[in-house]
Amino acid sequence: MVSRVIPVDPFDLVIFGGTGDLARRKILPGLFRRYCSGQMPADARIIGAARSDLDADGYRQLVRDAIDEFGGKTTCNDVDAFLANLDYVTVDARGDQGWEELAGKMRPGVIHAHYFSVGPGLFGDIAERLNRFGIAHDDSRVVVEKPFGRDLASAKELNASLAAQFDESQIYRIDHYLGKETVQNLMALRFGNLLFEPLWNAQYIDHIQITVAETVGVGGRGAYYDKSGAMRDMVQNHLMQLLCLIAMEPPSKFEPDSVRDEKLKVIRALQPLEPHEIVRGQYEANDTQSGYREDAENDRSSTESYIALKVALANWRWSGVPFYLRTGKRLSARSSEIAVVFKKMPHSIFEESDNEQANILAIQLQPNEGMTLDVTIKEPGPGGMRLVHVPLDMTFAEALGEDADAPDAYERLIMDVIRGNQTLFMRGDEVEAAWRWTDPIISGWQARNDVPKTYDIGSSGPMDAHMLLHRDGRKWRDIKQ
Ligand code: NAD
Repeated sequence: MVSRVIPVDPFDLVIFGGTGDLARRKILPGLFRRYCSGQMPADARIIGAARSDLDADGYRQLVRDAIDEFGGKTTCNDVDAFLANLDYVTVDARGDQGWEELAGKMRPGVIHAHYFSVGPGLFGDIAERLNRFGIAHDDSRVVVEKPFGRDLASAKELNASLAAQFDESQIYRIDHYLGKETVQNLMALRFGNLLFEPLWNAQYIDHIQITVAETVGVGGRGAYYDKSGAMRDMVQNHLMQLLCLIAMEPPSKFEPDSVRDEKLKVIRALQPLEPHEIVRGQYEANDTQSGYREDAENDRSSTESYIALKVALANWRWSGVPFYLRTGKRLSARSSEIAVVFKKMPHSIFEESDNEQANILAIQLQPNEGMTLDVTIKEPGPGGMRLVHVPLDMTFAEALGEDADAPDAYERLIMDVIRGNQTLFMRGDEVEAAWRWTDPIISGWQARNDVPKTYDIGSSGPMDAHMLLHRDGRKWRDIKQ
């Protein structure tokens, strides 16, 4: 089965920060791949808007280089035709330069989307100017990047600055984890089959693990990272969103507000954390590699490059089921996984009770997207009833075909913006609820002068993180690619 490509309607997409790192690495190569797949109509236009003094040809060269460097696997060589649809305006987000020129470039009668690929300090300025210069209208969409605030107060401020100019239905807060194929497949698995949902509760599920492990450190953006840390950078947004999709009640319809209402209820059901339910870590230098504090250029830093949490939800479905979350840098492998660990059987009829293992549904998000269900079966062949535990591959890669052009998360989400579908984007109240839960955790360890534990580069995190599960008679899954 080959994935179907449904073209979107013609659009003008303005990328504020169109010369920046994110635009060059992800947004523009992604749009080129959508162009190659036939999803982006021939008359769609992309307008870069940034501070650099470039003309349209200069911008086309910048984008050509970006596609060469970051384009990855593409099936077409039609770069020139794609570049012909590009334009550029030098814009000052905080001044008046460029805005009238930009207004003159927007075509009537097509979809208008504005991607704010700039620091959050500019969101309000850009939103205000889009209206003041008559560029925005009731159907315009704005896409905003993380970080969406660094605490509840700043998130509220950002929401207010956008709400002053746009309706919530026009605002797309992007979290690229939600654009991943397997994350959406998780919803299909839960709500498109009868098999799993009856088991999806405290009666049958022992616990859930969510891991986002990286091998890279913070080198290059250490100073920025040191002001945020793993809790703000990863847990408040990405891990929280994954937790919501795993834990939410079935929405009445797969439509934006039904899904987001259910996610919001999950966030509101999160219990406050006790200090013993949190493990923070910092990777330590070794003979050949620098440690976190050197990378962050702060030898007294107490910012965490690793965090593990034991989280509980106060509702009927999940009462007593721990959700263990962990994320960190400089770990043994780059791997993001959600593992749903079911309870063991109440009684075994087999003699080899050692083989009684729990079923585990594992959803891999990166580097390879996939889903496996660990089941116990009889070891094939003669010799009696010996049991083995094997993964049942539920990715259906063979059935669906290897699709070299499958869109990555950013591409999929940008196309959702053009289609006007907000289902996979965070609503303002969701973001605020997530900060409302996160803020006291961060202020708690600030008040206690909490110092992160150290861990070895290439390990699976600090020893205390293992103890967090060991105390409960459980263990983390191996971090492997
Ligand atoms: P960057 O510093 O590489 O690029 C910033 C862009 O903003 C440039 O194009 C610059 O010209 C433009 N800009 C800055 N000030 C301006 C002004 N006053 N007027 C007009 N344009 C101005 O940043 P980036 O890494 O591309 O990140 C952009 C945003 O995306 C940030 O909020 C960042 O946190 C977020 N983000 C980045 C990544 C990433 O991988 N780079 C990932 C997730 C989120």
